[in-house]
Formats: sequence, structure tokens, C-alpha cells
Amino acid sequence: MKRILQVTLLCLFTSLHIFAQQPQKPTSSEIYEAIKKLNFLGSVLYVAAHPDDENTRLISYFSNEVKARTAYLSLTRGDGGQNLIGPEIRELLGVIRTQELLAARRIDGGEQFFTRANDFGYSKHPDETLAIWNKEEVLSDVVLAIRKFKPDIIINRFNHRNPGTTHGHHTSSAMLSIEAFDIVNDKSKYPNQLQTTEAWQPKRLFFNTSWWFYGSRENFEKADKTNLLEIDTGVFFPSSGLSNPEIAALSRSQHKSQGFGSSGSRGSQMEYIELIKGDLPNEKANIFEGIDTTWNRIEGGQAIGNILHAVQENYDFNNPSASIPELVRAYKAIQNLSDTHWKTIKTKEIKDIIAACAGLYIEASANTNHATAGSEIDLNLEVINRSDANIVLKSINNPNGISIDKNLELKNNVNYDFKEKLKVNANQNVSTPYWLTKKGSLGMYKVEDKNLIGKPETPRPLVFEFHLNIENIDISYTKPLVYKTNDPVKGEVYKPFEIIPEASAHITEKVIIFDSDSQRDVEVIVKAGRDNIDGYVQIAHPNNWKVFPEKQKVNISNKGQEASLIFTVIPPNEQSEGLITPMVHIGNNIYTRALTEIEYDHIPTQTVLLPSESKIVRLDIKTKGQHIGYIEGAGDVIPESLEQIGYKVSTIAPEDISASTLNSFDAIVIGIRAYNTVDDLKFKQQALFDYVAQGGNLIVQYNTNRRLKVDQVAPFELKISRDRVTDETAEVRLLETDHEVLNYPNKITAKDFEGWTQERGLYFPNEWSEEFIPILSMNDKGETPKSGSLLVAKHGKGYYVYSGLSFFREFPAGVPGAYRLFANMLSLGKNDIKTN
Ligand SMILES: [Zn+2]
Repeated sequence: MKRILQVTLLCLFTSLHIFAQQPQKPTSSEIYEAIKKLNFLGSVLYVAAHPDDENTRLISYFSNEVKARTAYLSLTRGDGGQNLIGPEIRELLGVIRTQELLAARRIDGGEQFFTRANDFGYSKHPDETLAIWNKEEVLSDVVLAIRKFKPDIIINRFNHRNPGTTHGHHTSSAMLSIEAFDIVNDKSKYPNQLQTTEAWQPKRLFFNTSWWFYGSRENFEKADKTNLLEIDTGVFFPSSGLSNPEIAALSRSQHKSQGFGSSGSRGSQMEYIELIKGDLPNEKANIFEGIDTTWNRIEGGQAIGNILHAVQENYDFNNPSASIPELVRAYKAIQNLSDTHWKTIKTKEIKDIIAACAGLYIEASANTNHATAGSEIDLNLEVINRSDANIVLKSINNPNGISIDKNLELKNNVNYDFKEKLKVNANQNVSTPYWLTKKGSLGMYKVEDKNLIGKPETPRPLVFEFHLNIENIDISYTKPLVYKTNDPVKGEVYKPFEIIPEASAHITEKVIIFDSDSQRDVEVIVKAGRDNIDGYVQIAHPNNWKVFPEKQKVNISNKGQEASLIFTVIPPNEQSEGLITPMVHIGNNIYTRALTEIEYDHIPTQTVLLPSESKIVRLDIKTKGQHIGYIEGAGDVIPESLEQIGYKVSTIAPEDISASTLNSFDAIVIGIRAYNTVDDLKFKQQALFDYVAQGGNLIVQYNTNRRLKVDQVAPFELKISRDRVTDETAEVRLLETDHEVLNYPNKITAKDFEGWTQERGLYFPNEWSEEFIPILSMNDKGETPKSGSLLVAKHGKGYYVYSGLSFFREFPAGVPGAYRLFANMLSLGKNDIKTN
């Protein structure tokens, strides 16, 4: 089983299909390219930190032009970023970005690996990164990836020599790669890994530099290039009609959640790699110089090489099946190799080539895309040979119990469909990304099954083995069970087959704020994983909170159907926070996880089970004013968050901003990066400033200093900088303890800055006119104090507030202090007793 799982990672034929998960149907020229790759025995590993860091031009070049096994090791799965195509963030975004990398690799021909490091958000320095990641564990995972993949060449995306000039994750990826290069062949390092793999020494390590790393093209022209290799990656592939940069662009365009659609170019395209470790090749264009990349590399390989070079030379584009007898002869010889590493790789490659030459199509499909453990599903098993090769289908096996003897001769172009029933094992694990099954730390995923470390995704739950005899040699093919259906618009759609629990449940609101001690109703949605579920639901809650009723019955007759239950939650009198979790009892089982299906056309449908938790917060909060106007920016959760604490929020369209609209509101809040994204605001600034002057209250959240749509974001001089405080625990010093914003209606203290998440804030102004009063001071370790995070100015009869504090992150996390401080910002000028 382990061997099967390992080889499913390899991907021989590249694919330009629009929809993910479609089976491969290689063309005659794709088969020829695969044969050339079969005759190359060399490997390149590209190393960086995030999905999108990788240089797809180089990966595609090494995979498609050089024909090397090429892989990208991304230390993280990119959970920390923003999502441009849907609502998924954090873990679910990491799942999407993992699949986007796999989609990119299906196009550029690379493989994909990860470590257990979590993308916890922006980090200024590798020291911080490596303190939050478990450095030893990440290094161990990099070493493991190298020992398993056995690259001859490693290429780092980032420079290890300039900490502090880019994201700390970036520099860390290069530093760890170099450290791993030096210890990977040392058997005393991570000796437990040697039970499943061997020590290995890559020959060279490079840094994929460019003029950008030199500050300017002029500096790069003048730089010493002794250790630099130049590679022209702008090659053209007649077999696909595409240039290498065009393939690279198609690959990069899979990073759709990041909006990295990219257009390819044609013509010469230089890439530069700087030697960091190992010896400089004499022949500078050949990074593999001194490494035998032919079949002679391995003991017993020469004879195989002789057969396969003849296959390549005599390949008949009009009749690929003519190559089958010689390919089968080579397959048999490969089975006798003592080098298990290359034997595994080349066995998988040649099997795929033999199947492709025979027009052999094998598929195991189910009548549904998910089922529960213990249930029965209908299967369709399809096998067809479209050549004159002698092929016999001997049997079909499934480790779960199916074993069908056939001994059926597969005649040219005769389709064989077998209908079967399969009972899923009662103890079959549910499908979910393996790195999310246990709660990790801020910087690390927790993975208990060590065999899964490094793998891009959880192995498929159900696979079928088709045992064939091809030209008198037994060859088996392993196929994962899939679901296929016809969509009236998209046509044939494939989905992975998944095992789901009998029931899953979630509370509709992820954060529920109680601004007084009055009770609130919460809605629990229960979803059935099979027909006829019958049980009851309870809600787990902190001791000082109460939930009524204690339990409620749930009956659902159809799989996939949902039921809605209302529970009443009663908060304590004092400020308090905690988590509530719905627990669905069915028979002796208790289900506490929420099921999310992620569906996009560019990646296979993802089924994710995460702990079903909603945060409940009893806030000690007072508010002044009632009607808040909100002008949307790049997207935050201001309206729903303020409604949670009792405000009425109306969203104002930019074209509707006028004196009469604004005057009806107690305060106006501008969404994050509105001055970067909303063109119309440049015509509305005067109306907003006039509103303030006449006694209004305007709160502007962070913008970046680049591509501002207005000349002035404030009625007074205010210069936005790149200052940010990324440590969410950084000390916050109150500069103006008597200021209204820290006292009315809520007394703000250091306690209000506890429990913040991801960061304090970003893009703080660093210069402002004297009308502004800086309220807070904070800084990351080793930096000078930054006092631009919250600036308040009196303008006419009203108040203008500019804040780079990360309310957009703290509100969804239910951080009490963020709500209390924001309520004070909204209340400025409404204190009848005193004014500043
Ligand atoms: Zn990055």
C-alpha cells in the first residue's frame, strides 16, 4: 500500500485541461516526450516558502526541456494570505493554495512537496519566523524531502544573505535549504528518517537570482558573474505549440486565489542562478555537468538504456503501439534493478507509457462523490484496449474487499464495463486534509502519521488495482475511485470520491458578541452524511455560560439534507469569552466537526472537516450613537461586527456620498484600503471633510501608500508609511491616557490589547500635521517606537480618526479590546460632560 501511495505523486504527462481531475489522455507527441523523459535520470528541487514563490519558467524548463524530475518544495501552504476568489481564509485557503500548486504542477510537469510549517502571517525577519516555526521540525522536513526526492541540484528562490529585506519566511526557506544541504548526507542527523529513506548528497545548490536582487539592472550589468550560470528558458516546444514561458504562464495562472493570472511571452528569456554550494560546472550552461543522467547511472541500467534509446529512435507517431513489445521488455528489466529509488520512478513512468501506447483506458467510478463508512456504493469499472497488443485483464482488486477474477482478453477497441457493488469498511477514515486533523501551534501543523509528512495531500481513500497481462508480462495499474457526472454547462465533470461522517454540524455565526447580559438565539445546522439519521444535538459550552434546551432531537431522511435547530445562549454578567461546539449524537457516536466543500473549476472539489467551533464573547462595552454609515473598501467585516454590538449600519455607495446622506449618521467608517480601490472617492473627499467640520465623526482604516486614488486622505497633512507591527503581543503604550478616545464611554487599559491575533496593525502614518494627536505607541522587537497606529484630529466641530490597527483581523476573531476601542472611536464628540 505504501508504495502505491508514493507513486501516485508522480505525474508524467502534463495536461492543459481546463477542469481539474479529468483523466489523462495523452497524445502521440506527449507519449514521445514522456519516452525522452524516461531516458533522463536526473533531478532538480526548487525551494521557497509559499504557493506563488516558485519560478514556473525554471520548473517547466527543467521538466519539459531538460526532462529532469523537477519538484517544488513550498515550506508552507499559504494559509496566511487573502483570497480573491471566495470567502475561504486561513486553513481553508491553505487547502485551496495547496491544490493550486498541484494544478500548476499538472501543467508544468513538476511534483509538489510541503513541510509542516504554517504560514502564520507576515514576518519581518527570519529570527522571528524560525522562533514561531519549530525550526528543528521544519529543517527535519526539508532534510526528509531531499532524502526522499534525491535531487542532484537544489535551487533556492531566495537569498539567504539578506535577512530583514524580504518576508522572514522567504529568507528562512533559503537558510534552511542550505543548512539541509550540509547535513542531509549525515546519518547521525534525523536517524529515524533512515528507516524509510536513505542519506543523500545533492551535488550543487544555487540561488535563483535576478537583477531585482541587485537593486537595478545597471548594478546587475556591472556585477561579478563568475559564479552565475545563465539559462535561456525561452525555448519552444513544437509538440505542444507553446513556448516555455507560455507553459509557465498557464501554470502560474493557476494561483487564482491570489489573482496571479499571467500571460506568456515568446522568444529568449534568461534566468540566472548563482552557485552557493558544490563546484562550478566547467561547461556553464549544464547544471548537471559531472552527473551521469543516462541509464548508465545505475547498476544494470545500460541494457535498459539500449532498449529505450532504440524505442525513442524508432518511435512511430502514427502507431505508438508498435513500441509496446520493446517497452514491455524494458519494463521487465527495470523490475530486476537493485536501485529501488530509480526502479520505483521508472516503473511508474514506463507503465504509464505502455498504457498510453496501447490506448489503454482504465477507470473506477462511483455513483456518488461521497459515502459514509460501512455504506454500500454502486461502481462502474471500465477497461478498454485500443491497440493490437495482446492484453488480458486478469483481475480487479480493492484492498477493501473486492476481488474479481476476469481472465478476459481485451480485444482492440472493445469496451468492457463492469457493474459492481462495494461495501465501504466500517472503520474507514473520513477524508480530510491530513495536516488539519489535529490542532497544531501558531507556526506548525501537527501530523501524527510520519509517513504523510511532505505529501501534498491525503492519499485517496479507495483505490482499485487492475491486474493485466501485456505481451506476456504481468503489469498492474492502480486507479483511485472517482465520481463523474454530466453538467449541462460544463460537460463531463470529475470529482474525487470521499468518505464523510454520518453527520456534521456548524453554528451559523463564527463569532457571537453579547454586548449585555441578555440571551441570544443561535442556529445550528446539521447535515446528514447518509439517509435516515436519527439522534440528538447538544452544545458544549463554558461552565459560566448557559445553553437551552440541553438537548434537541434531530431526524433527517435524506443524505445531503440539512436541519436547522435553534438554541438559546445566556451569557454571564461579567466580561467572558469561550467556545461553543455542537455535538451530534447518533447511536454511540458523537460528531463535532463541520464539513466544508470547496468547489472551483481549476482545482478538484475539496472536502474538509474542521472542529466546529464558534466563539462567544460577553463584552463589557458601552456605546454612544446609533446609526453608522459604512463605505466599503477592499473587504472587511465592519457592518456585521458593529451590528453585533448594537449599532445600525448602512452601507453607502460611493456615488451616494453627499452632505445630506452623511449628515444622518452618527459616524462614518471607511473600509480597509478604500482609497486604494475605490476610484469615486477622489470626487467625494470634500463632502467627507465637510461632514466632519460640521460635527461628524469619520474613521478611516488603513490604506497603502502606493496607488492612492486621492491626493490627501485627511483634511490635514498625513503621510502613510510602510511601518507595521507584526507581533500581535507587542506592548502597547498609552500616550494620551486622558484623551476621550481612551476613556469614553469605555476605559481602555493594557488589558484591551490582550488576545489580539496575527498582528497589531500595518501601514501606519509616520508624519502628520500638529492637528493630529497620536494616542498609542508600539513597535516590533528591535525597532523604534511607532506612534501612528491611532491618530485623532479635531476638524471644525467634528473628529477625523486615522487608524492602521488591524480591526479587520480582530473583529472576526472576537477580540474584546478591539470592539471596546472601536466603540470609543465611534463615540468621539458624543461625550456631553467633557471634550478634549
Ligand atoms: Zn512568498
